[in-house]
Amino acid sequence: MKIYNSLSRKKENLVVENNTVKMYTCGPTVYYFPHIGNMRAYIFMDLLRKSLKYCGFNINGVMNITDVGHLVSDSDEGEDKMEIAARRENKNPYQIADFYTNCFFNDLSRLNIELPEHVEKVTNIIDDMINFIKELEKKGYTYIIDDGVYFDVEKFKKYGELSGKDLSKMGVNRIDENKQKHHPFDFALWKFVPENHIMKWPSPWGTGCPGWHIECSALGEKYLGNSIDIHTGGIDHKPIHHENEIAQNDAKEGKQVVKNWMHVEFLQVDGGKMSKSLGNLYTLNQLIEKGYTPIDFRYMNLLTHYRKSLNFTFSSLDSAKSALKSLKNLVNEHKNQNYITKQEILDNYNKEFIDAISDDLNIPLAVGVLWKMLRNEQKSNDIYNQALKFDKVLSLDLDKNDETKTQEEIPQEILDLANQRKIARENKDYKLSDEIRNKINEMGFNIKDTKEGYELSKI
Ligand code: AMP
Ligand code: ZN
Repeated sequence: MKIYNSLSRKKENLVVENNTVKMYTCGPTVYYFPHIGNMRAYIFMDLLRKSLKYCGFNINGVMNITDVGHLVSDSDEGEDKMEIAARRENKNPYQIADFYTNCFFNDLSRLNIELPEHVEKVTNIIDDMINFIKELEKKGYTYIIDDGVYFDVEKFKKYGELSGKDLSKMGVNRIDENKQKHHPFDFALWKFVPENHIMKWPSPWGTGCPGWHIECSALGEKYLGNSIDIHTGGIDHKPIHHENEIAQNDAKEGKQVVKNWMHVEFLQVDGGKMSKSLGNLYTLNQLIEKGYTPIDFRYMNLLTHYRKSLNFTFSSLDSAKSALKSLKNLVNEHKNQNYITKQEILDNYNKEFIDAISDDLNIPLAVGVLWKMLRNEQKSNDIYNQALKFDKVLSLDLDKNDETKTQEEIPQEILDLANQRKIARENKDYKLSDEIRNKINEMGFNIKDTKEGYELSKI
């Protein structure tokens, strides 16, 4: 498996111990409904996990739920997002976190995104974070000013390597707003908070709450130790959050902790940034209200490589929706067909699929292999089964065709008629069976005979 490592800026072979990939994913800040851009990041995580599994790796994955301490700006300025949301909704920050964490899990589940093995709320690991900061303090990487404990980036020689920041250049014209930070890139490990702050904990340095970056370092260490194979996140996290994670990890351990960084590019809307003020910030629920399924949106995501930005428009979602429908119909046409496809042919498609996913997760190409196989090969249940194997990675519910879904919404009256018709056919009473069919049609439904019996759909 080759992956593009944002740190070395090249594609590298993934080398892991004991065939197990230790993987960390930055989780959401749960102060509002997740939007479809966030979902792109987690669809990417899911595709990566499932591709690795398809290629024979085991995964030990970890993700945080940020329920405290992420300030409005990534660089320690502004207010805590959780406390702002609590005031807005007249709730306490814990209620806010619970509510939006559930919304997040619900979206993941509807998009067929599998959860990592360990998912932890940040408020559950306050002690781990305090211990981590103590270690950094012992090693001389921290200092204390009026509003908190800070990491001294100039003491960490490799600071800025991931995003190509040059500390010395920034040092010349410092924007030192509070005149206390040693360097503008220094970041908070522990923030002292005012008395009226709800989320606060005692610490050796004073009552406060953790800085935003320490959570990922502490949680990663808790479950994965001091060597992590892959760390994923959105591209926006590369210049600040991930630089700071690297500084914390590597300063504490005295060695490189994360071997590979993988960043997913942004989902944009109509070619630009998604924002509430532009009225173009969509949630999964809003797409569903407009008549799309979560899997239509998932399919749309599969068509653009994760290192390219994805431009969301409703017309491209429409295309994805109709393409997915055709794809499912095509899969269904292969179901239960008796023709036997040679094993060699199946193996070749499987190899092409693996080649695509193991070339830095080229999912668009892998989807192309699926289409090619379904279109070019003679209809056979072997091809159907192979498509379902590919679906272990793609997770498009290829085994559920739309007819099966509508079947659930068929009124009991129609189901009764369909059963009567089935009995009539078994008794070879075709006159009666035709009469019942007409009645079903008049009531707005189609009935199609299948090997298993029948399939009903709305006209
Ligand atoms: P946050 O809750 O803001 O920390 O975001 C959760 C995840 O979504 C992070 O990995 C972000 O990098 C990612 N993310 C946020 N906005 C977008 C977007 N428009 N496209 C892709 N990923 C995004
Ligand atoms: Zn993180």
